[in-house]
Amino acid sequence: MYGILTDDLELARTGPGEFTHFFAEYVDGTRQDPLEDAINSVACWGDTATVREDPARAALGADGTRATPDAEGHDWGTVCPTDSDYRAALLERIERVGAAGDVRLTTLGFPGETFCRCKRCDRRFEASEYDDRDAWRTAVITAFVADAAERVASDLLATLYPDPYPGNLRERAGLDPAALESHVDGFVVPLCGVGYGTTYWVESLARGFARELGDLEATLTIQLSAAGVDAERLAGLTRRLEPHADAFVYGTYPGDAETVRATIDLLSADEPRLSV
Ligand SMILES: [Zn+2]
Repeated sequence: MYGILTDDLELARTGPGEFTHFFAEYVDGTRQDPLEDAINSVACWGDTATVREDPARAALGADGTRATPDAEGHDWGTVCPTDSDYRAALLERIERVGAAGDVRLTTLGFPGETFCRCKRCDRRFEASEYDDRDAWRTAVITAFVADAAERVASDLLATLYPDPYPGNLRERAGLDPAALESHVDGFVVPLCGVGYGTTYWVESLARGFARELGDLEATLTIQLSAAGVDAERLAGLTRRLEPHADAFVYGTYPGDAETVRATIDLLSADEPRLSV
């Protein structure tokens, strides 16, 4: 299965592929109406607009770093996942987007190993049943995804940070695929690189995720970038990844639409034809 990811309404409606991931809510805080028949993507704690408006809502690292777009290693602002008001509003937004169909959650989890050390998170961890902070963080994120799943009647997909090394997702973000599995229908892993001048890392990560998620029933969709790559190269990369994933979604700007169309045509031509 091949589809596209876009924030462009026209491309979402007319673009190539069997399915469309549509950015309904983006990490910069931009929001647009969800698109019927698309898998609408909602940024969870990645919300630069909210963090710019009130930097105190940004997750806080152990060294005092706030998760703002200006902080090293952070491309967008990330709200603290225990901010109750934000969480409640986010769940409402997910419910509204979910009324249009399937939902993909992005920027799930804490924005790094040492986050969040705000006073509220310290208090909650102290008051929790957990001795281990990573276990507590994982419980916070899992409970959120469980609540989101209750608000979405259609399929719910969770985006994972692209690190399949055992234990790393949990330590980094509080994401535990095995714990999330009962709440989601699939996982999406972005393995994006402009041009894919080298591809060994894409194959290694895809293989790692296939192994990590292999025993789970949830599907695996790999997200690739169509920027700066030609169709032959992108189709060749996809072919090498196909043993490891159920579906591929190509991040597509309007200018890349023809590349993606040609890529999907090449891949579709590979499929065995039924003899009559
Ligand atoms: Zn916090």
